[in-house]
Amino acid sequence: MPSFCKSHMQFYSFGGCPKCIEAGVLGRNYAAPPQLAGRWNQLTAQPDLIDQDQFGVCGMTSAVYLLLRHHPNLADQLFRATFADVIPAHAGTTFTTGNHQNIAVKFRYLARRYHLQEQDNIAKYAAAAPAANRVMVALSKGQAANAADLAQLQSQIKLTCFVDFCVSRALGYIFKKVAEPRYNGEKAQFNAAFDPGGQYRNVTHLGSLALRTNNLAYIMKEILGAQHVHIASRAGGGAAGPAPVPLAPAVGGVTTSTFANVTQLAAEFTNRLAVPNSFALGAIFADIVKNTHVPAPSGQGTNPNLAYNHWIVMNSFTRSAAGGVPTCPDAHADIGIWTWARNYNARICEPHAMSYVQDVIFGHF
Ligand SMILES: [Zn+2]
Ligand SMILES: [Zn+2]
Repeated sequence: MPSFCKSHMQFYSFGGCPKCIEAGVLGRNYAAPPQLAGRWNQLTAQPDLIDQDQFGVCGMTSAVYLLLRHHPNLADQLFRATFADVIPAHAGTTFTTGNHQNIAVKFRYLARRYHLQEQDNIAKYAAAAPAANRVMVALSKGQAANAADLAQLQSQIKLTCFVDFCVSRALGYIFKKVAEPRYNGEKAQFNAAFDPGGQYRNVTHLGSLALRTNNLAYIMKEILGAQHVHIASRAGGGAAGPAPVPLAPAVGGVTTSTFANVTQLAAEFTNRLAVPNSFALGAIFADIVKNTHVPAPSGQGTNPNLAYNHWIVMNSFTRSAAGGVPTCPDAHADIGIWTWARNYNARICEPHAMSYVQDVIFGHF
């Protein structure tokens, strides 16, 4: 049942009147033009810092991170287009896609999602008051806090990363504008896998947007104009890891190949990252994201609807001979990872490295 806003004389179906929400967000300190410009200056100086925060936008945030590093002029255009409705100096700026379409980004669309996630976080935080109390009591007695209580308290949104969310999610908005059937398919099918009840709206209303491999490849090639976009996918299933998930409809001009082992995947990196301004985006299980030896197979292959769960930037992928870890007899795959505003170096035993990696999108700017 839709509701009606008397101030704006319009119906809305979820979470509040979009125009009222936009006005509310524009009144917040984090959305003031000097704050926006300040955060953007930080990100252009140090792209590593861009942070997807509490939002499931890893594919798009990884794309913006790559843009900041390899195509700063286009990254700037994305920022100006994202905030064209907010920063007077950027009024009227559109984003020019790789296909030469000029897309105006509606700030209201982004503000609404950010606000609803923020409200959701506040509600969760209020619900966590008993947990907060238990943690304080434990600490005051010099005891360790309960891990579940701490986890419940760590879901707060970071207002300093408002710009990060907006420029990332703006790519999803542009995606919707230039390829609506593709966007709608992603929204309805894959995002349902991220909600326990299978309701994609619970995911997308709060700003998240998961991307299957071909759809992130589409954004890299057709929207950001990356060259020689190529998808390398893990072959088979079975002992090598869970069966590959559908990639969404193929993208014209994107080439594909498969890899069956670490040797073949390492060769792809050697060949494809030799080009200036090249990149590799990996669809992986997030339990690979650490700075240590990874001696066990991924434990996340159990959800059949979600055969991988996270996009990262793979800055390097090399093999190291057995003996590199004194306690381990195996050779290793050494992966340089960027995600969640940080760099990691994971050293994974070769026999189970394939259990973590589903697809890698290569290309260059
Ligand atoms: Zn209103
Ligand atoms: Zn090992």
